[in-house]
Amino acid sequence: MENSKNRIPLKVFLSYLALALLVVVVGWIVFQEINSFTKAQRDESIEKNKILHIGKLLTLMYESESFARSAIQSNSRRPYANFLQKNDSIAVQIDSLKQMIAQPYEAKLLDSVNILLQQKTRNINELRNLRRNDSSEVFLEKTIEKLSNIEEQLGRLSLKDYVEDPENLDPKIKNILQQQIEIYNRYIPRDSSNSVNQATLDSIVTTSREMLQNMKEEASSQRKSLSIKENQLLQNDLTISQQLRQILTAFENEFVNNVRSLNSEREKILDRAMKVVTIAAIIGAILVILFSIIILKDSWRSQQYKKQIEASNEHNESLLKSREQLISMVSHDLRTPLSTILGYTELLKGAELNEKESHYTDRIKNASSYVVQLVDDLLDFSKLEAGKIHLEKVTFNLKNLISETAEGVQSLYHEKPIELIIDIDDKIDRLLVGDPFRIKQILSNLVGNAYKFTKDGHITVKARLKENSNGDPLISLSVVDTGIGIKKEKQKVIFEEFTQAESDIEKKFGGSGLGLTISQKLATLLGGNLYLESKEGVGSTFSFVFPAEFSEQELPISAEIHSENHTPKTAIVIDDDEALLRLNTEILERNGIKTHAFNNGKDALQNIAKMEYDFIITDIQLPSFNGFFFAETLKSDPQYQYKNQPIIAVTGRKDLDKKSYIEAGFAEFLHKPYEPQGLLDKIKKAFNNTEENITDTTKQADEKNNNNALFDLTSMQEFLNDEESMAQVLEVFIENTAKDLKALKKNIKKGELEEVRKKAHKMLSMFRQINAHAVVPHLDFMEHFKKEEKEQLPVHFKNLKKNIERTFSAVQKHLNC
Ligand code: ADP
Repeated sequence: MENSKNRIPLKVFLSYLALALLVVVVGWIVFQEINSFTKAQRDESIEKNKILHIGKLLTLMYESESFARSAIQSNSRRPYANFLQKNDSIAVQIDSLKQMIAQPYEAKLLDSVNILLQQKTRNINELRNLRRNDSSEVFLEKTIEKLSNIEEQLGRLSLKDYVEDPENLDPKIKNILQQQIEIYNRYIPRDSSNSVNQATLDSIVTTSREMLQNMKEEASSQRKSLSIKENQLLQNDLTISQQLRQILTAFENEFVNNVRSLNSEREKILDRAMKVVTIAAIIGAILVILFSIIILKDSWRSQQYKKQIEASNEHNESLLKSREQLISMVSHDLRTPLSTILGYTELLKGAELNEKESHYTDRIKNASSYVVQLVDDLLDFSKLEAGKIHLEKVTFNLKNLISETAEGVQSLYHEKPIELIIDIDDKIDRLLVGDPFRIKQILSNLVGNAYKFTKDGHITVKARLKENSNGDPLISLSVVDTGIGIKKEKQKVIFEEFTQAESDIEKKFGGSGLGLTISQKLATLLGGNLYLESKEGVGSTFSFVFPAEFSEQELPISAEIHSENHTPKTAIVIDDDEALLRLNTEILERNGIKTHAFNNGKDALQNIAKMEYDFIITDIQLPSFNGFFFAETLKSDPQYQYKNQPIIAVTGRKDLDKKSYIEAGFAEFLHKPYEPQGLLDKIKKAFNNTEENITDTTKQADEKNNNNALFDLTSMQEFLNDEESMAQVLEVFIENTAKDLKALKKNIKKGELEEVRKKAHKMLSMFRQINAHAVVPHLDFMEHFKKEEKEQLPVHFKNLKKNIERTFSAVQKHLNC
């Protein structure tokens, strides 16, 4: 069972753990993928930037080449300057591109671009220089031509005079022709006037021309070699340009490829992330379904358990109820014969007996007292277990209660040489409000135990006024004995039910082991506690500490003054138990009280009007006409000429408290079994108006407000504190009650007994809630009546209706105020 209790939370915990783990793992993977994705995106934008740079570089390269060509072709400086400027821009661009690249080989490639550019510049420079040289040959040619012109003017022949285009002649022919012309030129007659100068000039020109011609030839041959060089340089330039373009295009291609691969990587990352998320979603869904199934299964199982527990609880409750009923029935059935035994034993003791007989009667008395105690303990224990003990709240004199209880117990053990010391704090000599019956029960158990377990020495009953930590008053009642004491290890267990300190205790001292259990439970119920201090062989101290509530009332001067002002002479005794009836008669007659005995209430009522009597003693559980009904009928019907004589209830029932009897109109009540003196005391009390010092709170309420005596709204006011909702609730209650009464009447008429019980049970709760004292006993009867009591139902119903009307008219009056 414990396992199954823990299983659900563990499973739920594991489910959440698995889901959390899944979320963490998936989150981590997705986070990584997003990181890679953004990195790829960043890389891609870098690559794109690089492509842009390369594009620009290529454009600059083309521009530079075009300027280079112009620079080669023209002698002007401008294109060359432009070419240099472009190269500078290219260098800057390369530098900025270099910042972007990470690979060392790429940097080297870019460096090689720079080197190539420098080569190209050098190439262009050389080309330009070559071109410049070429123009000097042209100049030479022009000079020679001029000199030729001068020859012509001097009457000399030249190759041009023979051939139109001497330059295009075959060199051999040209050579022969040239030699022929030379010969002619030697025979051409010279101008006589110029004969000296002419010869001189001629030789100068010819020499110059030859010189120039030589120079030209030299230049021409040089030009040829230059042309070769130029071609080489051009070729070089072309190669450099090609290399540059190749490098840059390679870069461009690489960058484009990079972008492409980054793009595809991004797509892959997206794909992967999608896959992970989808798989996670599927796993998550499966887990959720799985866990839901497990949890649902568990919750279904726990529902089943709950149902089983509820069923077993119901069973237990019904068992408890039956146990309680059984205990109550058995104890009731035991009580009556026990009363008879105890009563007759007491009567016997009063007779003249020899020693043996006196010993026997003592044994009988002790044995029956033991059974009475056991029955009482069992009944109390079962009521405490079922939470059915209700505390009273009445005013009482604690000092009297302590003395009476301690002395009462002492009288039972008068043969023991034990001194009883009663030590009561003067501060306690005031009236208290609480449940004296239960306090007395605890104290008499403690004092009884002290006497039981003490051989000689003394027993001290101490009462002290103390305070708790809040400063509220507490009363501590301690019973100190010089008895056998209790071993340390047994001190705790003796508070457990049916436990005794030693196994031979029962044999030696008797007892059931219930006394302390009941006392402790009662002490807790009273808001207090029981404490024990003990030393084996030295003695024990039991302390009962409980909260004190002091009454506003003053202590009466003396209870005795008012007693004995009326001595009863005649009584009516009603009991269905023949033995007890006779016993009571005997006890009363021995005390000078004339007795009319009846074994049922009906007979008593039939004769009552004709009889003189001072009080009535009636049993409560009478066949077909119970004590409550007897009292009610007697009081309500004038034909019985009832003159407020006290009615004393004797009962084996322990489920009703004193209040219920007083409210039902009884002057006193007495639990069976009782001893003759107990009965006589009650008679005395019934005639003593001051009733010792015990004052019933209901009676006080009666005096204050007659209407309120029929009901009490205090407990309802605790949760309905505004008048309006209280009035509404009461109105609905009155309306429903009218319907219930109608239905109840029908059920009684038709003899539907189970329905009557059910309806009475239903009606009881609300009437109990408002403390409708006149109504509750009738409904209580209707809920619990036995089959043979069904004849009483119509009369109970009549009284119920009447009392409900009385109660409701009082309620209406209260509401109208
Ligand atoms: P019982 O009815 O047997 O006395 P209790 O519950 O009253 O049952 O007491 C339980 C046990 O505690 C007793 O049997 C006894 O062993 C021990 N005990 C109680 N009071 C005293 C005491 N004053 N001195 C010694 N032993 C005690």
